[in-house]
Amino acid sequence: MINDTYRHKGLRKKLVETIREKGIQDERILQAIEHVPRHLFMDSSFLEFAYEDKPFPIGNGQTISQPYTVAFQTELLDIKKGDKILEIGTGSGYQACILMEMGARVFTIERQKALYLKSKSNLKELGYKPKLQSYGDGYKGLPQWSPFDKIIVTAGAPYIPQALIDQLKPGGILVIPVGTETQLMKRIIKSTSGELTEEDHGLFRFVPLLNDKTMEA
Ligand code: SAH
Repeated sequence: MINDTYRHKGLRKKLVETIREKGIQDERILQAIEHVPRHLFMDSSFLEFAYEDKPFPIGNGQTISQPYTVAFQTELLDIKKGDKILEIGTGSGYQACILMEMGARVFTIERQKALYLKSKSNLKELGYKPKLQSYGDGYKGLPQWSPFDKIIVTAGAPYIPQALIDQLKPGGILVIPVGTETQLMKRIIKSTSGELTEEDHGLFRFVPLLNDKTMEA
């Protein structure tokens, strides 16, 4: 049974106000955050932390991103209804659900099997329907489903994978935190003629985008 009460809804309204004060202005993003029950993407014993503007562990050494960071990356993506989005790093599935609330068609990849399986069953239970939830390596993207209008990476990438640039439509946007200790939030815009423009949007701290060498077992 889905346990989303008036108390949870009240806490979400407060969270939305916090994120608005931090500078997020797009009402569609704020509405999505108000709708998606973040506490149901975390273990139930951590309920009291669900609506603080903080990242939180979701198991397997991973975290659900801070709501402000989710909102910030979403704002950079400039989501339009019907956009075809690739997300690297499904994690809890929370970011994917924010994008779906905004009318995006979401394809998402997770590298860790336990998280892939957990998020898959959780999204199903909550009634969210991504176009595809894939267990695989985000460095490679999903060439068979490309091109995408927008691509979002939700783990810290040591570099910008060329495969992701290649899978972006002309006119498309890639949002990716790049760096090891801390990450610079980059927005790459591919023009209709295929030229790339790169913007920097401040420092963040993400868990690393794992490759075969940094993957444990
Ligand atoms: N978007 C998530 C936050 C995920 S944290 C949410 O809303 O909860 C980053 C996620 O990226 C982790 O789940 C991690 O396992 C995953 N990840 C790390 N390296 C990856 C890779 N190479 N490909 C796909 N996913 C990866």
